[in-house]
Amino acid sequence: MIEFAHVTKSYGRDAPAVSDLSLVIPAHRTTVIVGPSGCGKTTTLRMINRMLEPNAGEIRWDGRPLNTLGKTELRRSMGYVIQSGGLFPHRTVAANIATVPRLLHWDSRRIAGRVRELMELTELPESLADRYPAELSGGQQQRVGVARGLAADPDVLLMDEPFSAVDPVVRAGLQDLVRGLQRELDKTIVMITHDLDEAIRMGDQVAIMKDGAIVQAGPPAEILDEPATDFVREFIGRDRGYRGLGFAAAAGLRLTAVDTTRAPGTATTERPVLVLDARGRPVGWVDPRLPGGTMDLGTVFDPATDSLRVALDAALSSPVGRAVAVAGPAARYAGVVTIADLLTAVATHRDDLAESRAERAAHREVAVAEPAEPVSGPGPVDDGVVPEASS
Ligand code: ADP
Ligand code: MG
Repeated sequence: MIEFAHVTKSYGRDAPAVSDLSLVIPAHRTTVIVGPSGCGKTTTLRMINRMLEPNAGEIRWDGRPLNTLGKTELRRSMGYVIQSGGLFPHRTVAANIATVPRLLHWDSRRIAGRVRELMELTELPESLADRYPAELSGGQQQRVGVARGLAADPDVLLMDEPFSAVDPVVRAGLQDLVRGLQRELDKTIVMITHDLDEAIRMGDQVAIMKDGAIVQAGPPAEILDEPATDFVREFIGRDRGYRGLGFAAAAGLRLTAVDTTRAPGTATTERPVLVLDARGRPVGWVDPRLPGGTMDLGTVFDPATDSLRVALDAALSSPVGRAVAVAGPAARYAGVVTIADLLTAVATHRDDLAESRAERAAHREVAVAEPAEPVSGPGPVDDGVVPEASS
């Protein structure tokens, strides 16, 4: 766990870039700090590996103040990834990835083995090892940057807007890669971005920053459901209710059956008929107006892995108002959910949210009523009545 306690950092005489910032960053999770440009994100990140030192307050790592830990040691245990990978242009991919192991004087066989391992982990073809950064796509450069950050197997990975230079499709791939790596390698990741969607996708915890301080931190679903201030509400923007459905699992939905056929020409019924291919995968709906024709399938969802948001989209994009569920690696037809059943599930999800909201409010009240530090000795005495001594 990394803990910021009332940290302030100024550059010269300017107003502080970071001001009285407190934040708990849990170990083995991804924390995303998100906020508009200039709000102090990079300054915050750079204090974690002591590239910058705070002017006031303290940062602790597993309880130890950072300024009691050696900078070299610290940077060995914290990988750093920046936009476009921040690669050395005159070094090959392999040499870039090997940067930290070289500094640590690993022998060349160990380094070569580690480079191969990391290229595989970040899904980079081995054939790229001898290329220079300019000969790579933006997405590949970024993968090399991630591989380099992980080279010495650090406990913590610090990422400064790592994906802002790539297009949305490549970006989504990189986000999935890092999510997967986090689960597989169990790192503590602190990532910063100015993109709220990225924060929501990546973060176990999202911390929203404004003018050098954290205005709200918590699980993304909680922030979408209960923005703490007008700034957060505005920053999140529209669609927060709809986006919140992305955190509700589709697993509980009741699947029903529809008629299916493998030959659309033969179906003659008023009811919707789903067309399946030879392997049982849905391909479209029988078009009642056009013998032998099919209507677009719409999107589908997998109840085992997808959210209510994806399921609702499947229903809304279906020409017959039914979300088609698929299952297994082959994505075979598994059943359908009607819009009505989906809206019932959405309503239940709303009730769950209201319950969590009430629980959080109760927690806050308890925290206010009971100070965290136990108070010793008799408390304040009202009206001169001395409390009875307990036996
Ligand atoms: P962000 O990463 O959120 O865009 P930064 O942490 O880079 O924000 O910057 C926060 C504030 O500190 C900005 O006002 C910026 O101009 C200022 N700042 C950043 N680095 C320096 C520096 N080296 N010298 C002076 N001011 C700086
Ligand atoms: Mg920055």
